[in-house]
Amino acid sequence: MSEIGIGCFKRPLVIAGPCSAENREQLLSTAVAVKETGVKFFRAGLWKPRTKPGGFEGVGAAGLEWLKEVREVTGMKILTEVATPAHLEQVMKINPDLLWIGARTTTDPFAVQAIADALKGTSVPILVKNPLSSDIDLWSGAVERLSNAGVSTIGLIHRGFSTYEHKSYRNAPLWHIPMEMKRRYPSITLICDPSHMGGSRNFIAPICQHAMDLMYDGLMIETHINPEEALSDKAQQITPKELKVILKNLIVRENSKEIEGIGALRSEIDELDDELLKVLSRRMQISREIGEYKKQHKIPVFQKDRYSEIIQSAVSKAKEMDLDEEFVLSVIEAIHRESVRLQLPDSDL
Ligand code: PEP
Ligand code: MN
Repeated sequence: MSEIGIGCFKRPLVIAGPCSAENREQLLSTAVAVKETGVKFFRAGLWKPRTKPGGFEGVGAAGLEWLKEVREVTGMKILTEVATPAHLEQVMKINPDLLWIGARTTTDPFAVQAIADALKGTSVPILVKNPLSSDIDLWSGAVERLSNAGVSTIGLIHRGFSTYEHKSYRNAPLWHIPMEMKRRYPSITLICDPSHMGGSRNFIAPICQHAMDLMYDGLMIETHINPEEALSDKAQQITPKELKVILKNLIVRENSKEIEGIGALRSEIDELDDELLKVLSRRMQISREIGEYKKQHKIPVFQKDRYSEIIQSAVSKAKEMDLDEEFVLSVIEAIHRESVRLQLPDSDL
């Protein structure tokens, strides 16, 4: 069960609805069809943050009445995005059940603080999307600003991170970042947004399954009565029918007594992790000694040939040891980076 300040829900807590409210007819017909899938939370963006000017920027306050009507007609809870205190002031007139703060807003501490100040004295639950960049402190900073302003129910929406490199997903998941947020805030509700993460409807189902396997509390899935005609995020929206199929096929595993069966293996992992740390500590000690020697003999810290040698040897051993090459590369790179850092004169740089 997930507690989100407005009652308990069986995992997953599903939020569905279009990227944007476009007109009354689109919103209501989508909502009626979404309701039939059993979903209890309905989303629609009114003010749309667009990367480039000239795109559809949302219907703004004109959509508030339609959202209210959705709640009256279907009984679903309604939520939308707020990016400024002015949005908040307008949306509070329809008494929203929840609100979310978008990725671009979370990226800007001034904007988050302005919303946090404007939220003082209200009790609406707020979901905070991850910032665009993979900066965990920006995300937790937003949570803290809201919590310091007295917002008592805060949840997280993981929608992936912008990266310069082109990847198959629109936004890189970097699953370890929300996992670290869960470590920092163990009881916070964590929702995955496969639509903005994948950027394509084909990725929705596998991302939802992945999120369930990582014990996420919920999913926010962009759903449109006619995705082909959507005015924003067309490629990633699905129909209510497709939503129903995806939800039906989801395998939701719960933690249970069975977990005790892996107790022994977990102890072994703990011991191995201790050993890894001890080995790392010994390795860094040797790096420091080499650093001293290089300094005394005026030898440069970074030795290109030595570095390629280390990498090549690790990659060929990885193959023999049934370890993923890319994983081994990233570990060795991180270790080497730390060695170099320790050997530089000002190792705090
Ligand atoms: C949205 O949910 O429609 C949206 C704009 O998302 P994000 O802030 O994640 O880009
Ligand atoms: Mn969208």
